Amino acid sequence: MFGISLYAGIFHLLFFLNKKENRENLYFALICFAIAFYDAMCFGLYNAHSVTSGIGWQRGQYFAFCCLAVPILYFVFALTEKKKTWLFKILVSFIYFLVAAGLLFPSRIWDLQTPNIKNIEIFNLHITYFEAGSALLMNLAFVFIIAATIYVFYILLASYLRRKRKDLLPLLIGLVVYLISAFLDVLITNDMIHFIYISEYSFIILIFMMDFSFQKRFVRLFHEVEAMNVELEDRVKARTDEINKLLTELSLANEEMEEKNIALQELSEHDSLTKLLNHAAFHGRLAEVFNAAKRQHFPLAVLMIDIDHFKEINDQYGHPLGDRIIIKVAEVLLGSSRNYDVKARYSEEKKKVPPASIRKYDVAGRYGGDEFSVLLPYCGENETKIIAERIHKHINGIVLEDTPNLQISVSMGGVVFDQKVMPDNEGILIQQADQALYQAKKGGRNQVVINRLTGKGL
Ligand code: GH3
Ligand code: MG
Repeated sequence: MFGISLYAGIFHLLFFLNKKENRENLYFALICFAIAFYDAMCFGLYNAHSVTSGIGWQRGQYFAFCCLAVPILYFVFALTEKKKTWLFKILVSFIYFLVAAGLLFPSRIWDLQTPNIKNIEIFNLHITYFEAGSALLMNLAFVFIIAATIYVFYILLASYLRRKRKDLLPLLIGLVVYLISAFLDVLITNDMIHFIYISEYSFIILIFMMDFSFQKRFVRLFHEVEAMNVELEDRVKARTDEINKLLTELSLANEEMEEKNIALQELSEHDSLTKLLNHAAFHGRLAEVFNAAKRQHFPLAVLMIDIDHFKEINDQYGHPLGDRIIIKVAEVLLGSSRNYDVKARYSEEKKKVPPASIRKYDVAGRYGGDEFSVLLPYCGENETKIIAERIHKHINGIVLEDTPNLQISVSMGGVVFDQKVMPDNEGILIQQADQALYQAKKGGRNQVVINRLTGKGL
């Protein structure tokens, strides 16, 4: 029994050392060690040959009782998850008192003057207990043990009944067995029954029952954790679905916002009538391309186009028709300036590929009123002349169904920046393109004038 108690104690102590927050394991280990201590004292007493030689073992039994009582109280409170009451504190203090008193007055534990030698015959065995009668401290300890056992029994029963803690049932049974055995031992001590002491054997039953309760509680907690895990997984899944839904909604809203932003930018940069770049946007694009041309050394040209005698057309045919002419001219420009890469455009033309929408490469703008501007990156003087003449020809070819006899013409002035002259900014290009346009108007209108950029006005 000593071995079993010691083994159970070591097992639960190691358990505690591995998982220190489970203090019940520590209390349980201490209970087992105290029982092992008590068993060792019993062994010594049963082998004593006189009351005097047995008294030391009997005192040991007294201290073992005290050592057992404290962890039992702590263990039961931990197992039932009960807050420590004032009664608990009184009982623990009383044990400390018994230990201190026993150490100070060992002769008051057992009384050597009143020997209590017992001769017992059991299963053909003759056993003699050389015991001294109990003195004041041992009598107090008896009273305490009975009071503490009843209190502990009450706490366990209350927890079992009120909180439906089925896992406490084995421990309750163990305690009942112990109470009966302790009662029988009192009768044996008082020679009312001739039998060996049995409470030390009931301790072993108590250990098994405690362990059983312990394991049942462990299994209960394990099932609770499992159930919580399942619930947690469900909740995480629901939350993840919710988040995914929100993310989808958010990304849709983002896409919508991006589309609206693009549309807004388009609106702010383009002229509503012709869909060409407006004055400000054209200037912005010109500044960008001009800076790139300077850094990367490529030529570029700027064309200014003005409809001839547009005022008269408006007066004669009305403004709505004037608007339609502006739109038609814009369509020609969109088709003719749809790509920076002039060579590619030539080859497309050769293959008779119809002009595509130019949105991305749009460098044609409505400069204001009946005046348009075109930016031709990578175009030297010759290429610019070819493109300008082509635009001019296309505009001359505009025919309105309801006024087939109305001949539409434009005057065009252009300037080519070919790196020979290096202005600080692009403003001079507009200025000299305007001058070329003025020359075209002055020269009789319906014509193209293309100049190279000069240092005049720099
Ligand atoms: P020129 O050959 O010298 O250019 O003669 P012009 O009559 O075209 O003279 P100018 O370029 O100065 O005339 C511009 C006219 O364009 C004046 C204005 O009534 C008209 N106009 C400006 N914006 C619009 C518009 O959006 N729609 C219409 N229908 N007419 C416009
Ligand atoms: Mg005009």
